[in-house]
Amino acid sequence: MTREARKRELGRGERVIPGLWRLRLPLPWPGVPHGNAWAIASGPGIVLVDTGTHEAGSLAQLERAMEQVGLRLPLVRLLVCTHAHSDHWGQAAPIRELAGCEFWMHPNHAHAVMGASDPEAALARRLEVGRQSGVPEEALRRYADRYESMPSGIAAVIEPDRPLVSGVVVESDLGRWDVYETPGHAPSHVCIFAPERRLLVSGDHLLGRISLYFDYGYTPDPVGEFLHSLDVVERLGARLCLPGHGRTFADVHAHIRGNRELVRQRLASVREALAHGPLTAFEVVPHVYGDSLSPQNTHWLLSKILSFLTHLQVTGVARRIAGDDGQPERWAA
Ligand SMILES: [Zn+2]
Ligand SMILES: [Zn+2]
Repeated sequence: MTREARKRELGRGERVIPGLWRLRLPLPWPGVPHGNAWAIASGPGIVLVDTGTHEAGSLAQLERAMEQVGLRLPLVRLLVCTHAHSDHWGQAAPIRELAGCEFWMHPNHAHAVMGASDPEAALARRLEVGRQSGVPEEALRRYADRYESMPSGIAAVIEPDRPLVSGVVVESDLGRWDVYETPGHAPSHVCIFAPERRLLVSGDHLLGRISLYFDYGYTPDPVGEFLHSLDVVERLGARLCLPGHGRTFADVHAHIRGNRELVRQRLASVREALAHGPLTAFEVVPHVYGDSLSPQNTHWLLSKILSFLTHLQVTGVARRIAGDDGQPERWAA
């Protein structure tokens, strides 16, 4: 998307059902032009789920979306974030400040906090993972140059007022919403489910257009955790899904099956790649994603490949061969 087209992207609000609104907020990312926050009526105010990213003018976009459906920021009585990626909790600090509300999020948010509070340490860690994975030095240098100009998208790191873990209930006019921990996409990920109406706010765990992402390096097996989280959500029997990006969708079970199938395909591709002999994670990428690798997406794709490789290791299909003398590690079937 061109810079001009991006500028025209504006916050928009729409009612989904009485007492539930979708707030569509612009994002500065190519290929992901917007994300959703959800407003749920709750007594004299609302519960706000997710925040949009933080950048110049982003709070005005949220206010604009709210105004379109007759809402205002001071009405927020509780802010809940599905996970600690910047597009879902980036504006938590100013919202809590302006609304004077509580902010609830899962405590396993270390994966996001480092990037926001100590960008140098976060960059060093990413470069180390890249080096270990066989990314050429030149590409790492380009990434480091770019990283310095990349905003974190997080206004300020604030600790949740309450840990959003399984068993916590969010009250609303649509009935109770139960919290389910659904790690995989991110260690801090939760979904909330309203059993009376069978509504599921899915964050990035389930999206209308199936796409996978895993935060690598914070938990033992992100892919395994994601598959387990799909089982957790499947048992709920949701009839309408309110995802973190894109429109609501009703065929929730088809989407769950689609996610499982895509994971299966990707794991099969990684296994096939390993048949060519021990490879670095970087060398596996083109086997799975073709020649789509670019400086912009290397970190993203590598994080997924490392997560798939780790899952194959955990399930006894692949093994990791440590690299000696600064050599990258390799993976073998
Ligand atoms: Zn996310
Ligand atoms: Zn997202």
